[in-house]
Amino acid sequence: MPDIFFIMNIFNSISEIKIHISAKKAQNCSIGFVPTMGALHKGHISLIEKACKENSLCVCSIFVNPVQFNNNEDFAKYPRTIDTDITLLNDACCEILFNPSEKEIYPEADNTVFDLGGLDKNMEGAFRKGHFNGVAMVVKKLFEIITPDKAYFGEKDFQQLAIIKYLVKNLGIPVEIISCPTVREADGLAMSSRNQRLSPEERKIAPVIYQTLLKIKEYGISQEVEKLKKWVEKEINFYPAMQLEYFEIVNAETLAPVTFPDSTENPVACIAVNVGKIRLIDNIKFV
Ligand code: AMP
Repeated sequence: MPDIFFIMNIFNSISEIKIHISAKKAQNCSIGFVPTMGALHKGHISLIEKACKENSLCVCSIFVNPVQFNNNEDFAKYPRTIDTDITLLNDACCEILFNPSEKEIYPEADNTVFDLGGLDKNMEGAFRKGHFNGVAMVVKKLFEIITPDKAYFGEKDFQQLAIIKYLVKNLGIPVEIISCPTVREADGLAMSSRNQRLSPEERKIAPVIYQTLLKIKEYGISQEVEKLKKWVEKEINFYPAMQLEYFEIVNAETLAPVTFPDSTENPVACIAVNVGKIRLIDNIKFV
């Protein structure tokens, strides 16, 4: 039940949010941080609710990070729904929203190249060149600004989560990374800000992605991955509006490809599919 007297603090400037956070830290407040690109849905809100529960203050950031997009059209058409986002965050009793401009985050071009431990080489990293370097760049900047005790990331972006865990360990950033389960629509489609760009016909067939992953989990154990890949390609590409980009089964920690998924290898099946012009990703753990 939202508190009608609750009003979230909104900051656009780095210096102002830093002053606010320092004051809160001086009062021994713990900070839970949820970085997002906005167009919020129940998946994001599940992270916000967890952060609110586990900390004295919840900070959400909304920033559509240009340097993590490898496709200009995807960046230009990324949904931006700030007014609805503010209502949703208020209803979830998130205390602070950080909503900076591009100039605020990148006052000048930043060419930092991050060591991502090779975790960025396959899957999303192979198909979206520079994507994870851009993610690392913004997440590191945001962590320096917000100085959270805990930061919350969704398992929906499985490779991103593994990379963020590596990044904070490698750079010695003092923040605990909390993984949160994927929130799905009633028909199984993983919630995503991009879902709202699907046409009604595309939206109808998109749940096939998760249904395919469920079948892989049920029947794929100890099967040869190469065979499973061919089967997945047939299942997905059967629909003229869908095109498989990749399907991989990898070890959940190292992201190294697995040849025969069995429980000792902690396998996770990851998939990317173009549904019309919209690129959707999903994954499922075997155990
Ligand atoms: P984004 O706004 O897409 O950058 O996502 C912000 C955070 O929300 C990331 O940590 C995502 O993994 C997480 N997230 C996005 N969709 C979901 C979902 N359906 N369930 C859980 N977490 C999600």
